[in-house]
Amino acid sequence: MDLLNTLVDKGLRRELPTREEALAVLATSDDDLLDVVAAAGKVRRQWFGRRVKLNYLVNLKSGLCPEDCSYCSQRLGSKAEILKYTWLKPEDASKAAAAGVAGGAKRVCLVASGRGPTDRDVDRVSKTIEAIKEQNEGVEVCACLGLLSEGQADRLRDAGADAYNHNLNTSEGTYGEITTTHTYADRVDTVQQAQAAGLSACSGLIAGMGESDEDLVDVVFALRELDPDSVPVNFLIPFEGTPLAKEWNLTPQRALRILAMVRFVCPDVEVRLAGGREVHLRTMQPLALHLVNSIFLGDYLTSEGQAGQADLDMIADAGFEVEGAGTTTLPEHRADVVAGCGSHTAQDAPGCGSHGGGCGPCGSSEPEPEAPAVPEARTDLVSVRRRGAGTDLAPNA
Ligand code: SF4
Repeated sequence: MDLLNTLVDKGLRRELPTREEALAVLATSDDDLLDVVAAAGKVRRQWFGRRVKLNYLVNLKSGLCPEDCSYCSQRLGSKAEILKYTWLKPEDASKAAAAGVAGGAKRVCLVASGRGPTDRDVDRVSKTIEAIKEQNEGVEVCACLGLLSEGQADRLRDAGADAYNHNLNTSEGTYGEITTTHTYADRVDTVQQAQAAGLSACSGLIAGMGESDEDLVDVVFALRELDPDSVPVNFLIPFEGTPLAKEWNLTPQRALRILAMVRFVCPDVEVRLAGGREVHLRTMQPLALHLVNSIFLGDYLTSEGQAGQADLDMIADAGFEVEGAGTTTLPEHRADVVAGCGSHTAQDAPGCGSHGGGCGPCGSSEPEPEAPAVPEARTDLVSVRRRGAGTDLAPNA
């Protein structure tokens, strides 16, 4: 049995692939890309059908962060010309959220820059959650406020939050190269605090920061162990004015292989295509819908996405459907163990895989070595957000 058949069988049984199998997915050639997508698509359809969950970001507080996450346009010392503003009023946040819900979003993700919230910040966000829940019946709310202190997850849950997001972002081994002001262990601790409080955990990664295939597999395996309900996959948006501005490491094909690997390792979890999809997948975005079951509608925290209507058209044209408010996202066996419901980041492959036992997807035991595609720097596609929350202009939804 070749690699992809093995991975489909394991995905349908929710069985963990081996590290070698996950690495082999990342090492497949462009000639095998459609086979990889089709295989991971079978796993996606088994657990999520053809549904696509839409999520909507509201940036409650933008920029001026004291932390130094290298990928982030809001970091300490960032020269990126992003919108900078302090806490949105609950009514303004609720108005922005309502635009996302009207556009079809089922979940609103409330994000604030900073190391973590003070207790006063939690009070403020609690009022915002209450306002959003009151004005948008049935909407799921996820908070993403950074590192949590004792008791804050409980208070957010009591205010009506359904979920908490805190991404691992990259492997434990490389975390110190990306951020120095907090640790990987701090991040794991916050995800676990959210889970302990009965919040649905959302935790994911950022690909394209110069990491190796091994690092990507490490972080995805760590996420599987942490067992969040949703796993956002971000592709680095290399903002001018940040330390990673020159890291253009992704091709659309590479991005699809990464998404397929995440689906095989986390088969029954909400895999969400997050920041960077327009920049790195570009015209290949519809293929990603065969791998992920969730995307963000409209704009991101500090950058603009494609028009909300283009997201909806893409979903319909690719033969998928927007998940309705009355539908449970997660498969029954997972939904049962989630207290609330079931979300975000503030933000080369040689030919054949080494999975042992031959060369399944490549169709030849001695493939010609293939030069990896050289990714293009598409700075023309990075557009700083100038509308929606924190501005007088209507949001994109
Ligand atoms: S990711 Fe969050 S904590 Fe890190 S610099 Fe950006 S806003 Fe600050």
